[in-house]
Amino acid sequence: MLVRLMYASRAADSVGTDELAAILRRSRQDNHAGGITGLLCLSGGIFLQVLEGGRSQVSALYNRIAADARHRDVVLLSYEEIGERRFAGWAMGLIDLSRLNPALLLKYSEAAVLDPYALSGRVSMALFDELIATASVSCSP
Ligand code: FAD
Repeated sequence: MLVRLMYASRAADSVGTDELAAILRRSRQDNHAGGITGLLCLSGGIFLQVLEGGRSQVSALYNRIAADARHRDVVLLSYEEIGERRFAGWAMGLIDLSRLNPALLLKYSEAAVLDPYALSGRVSMALFDELIATASVSCSP
């Protein structure tokens, strides 16, 4: 039984390049072992993350992540049972937003900033899908 979960959160002030690198290092190591795949995006202090994998593994990881002091205001945006993974190639890829076209954010939002708190889960997932298609996904922060 595979599931896909997406949440948003606000990064703690302490989270910079080094902390993001530490999160990604730990994620890639543990996700590989737990059969979890997905993508992480950090823009303007907002995290957006998609996790895919077995239901109990994704559920346990989400609970661990939600309790992490490196972010706050964790909001579950979307949860669904899936037949196949979308991000099978990524133990945890980082979406590089530096080359993002602001028009894409405006397509789904009132302003050209990433604000999943102002969007429905369905729209957040649609935006995420387009982010993946237009931004590059990297292995390093
Ligand atoms: P431990 O390593 O025992 O740590 C316990 C607590 O200490 C953590 O919850 C955290 O609050 C804190 N902590 C740990 N390391 C640091 C540090 N370097 N700096 C500051 N505080 C720290 N983990 C994954 O395995 N897969 C993921 O995909 C994943 N994605 C994440 C996305 C985000 C946005 C964040 C903030 C964290 C993510 N993590 C991920 C890390 C996750 O929250 C846990 O820290 C990790 O899974 C280890 O869990 P643990 O219970 O063994 O914690």
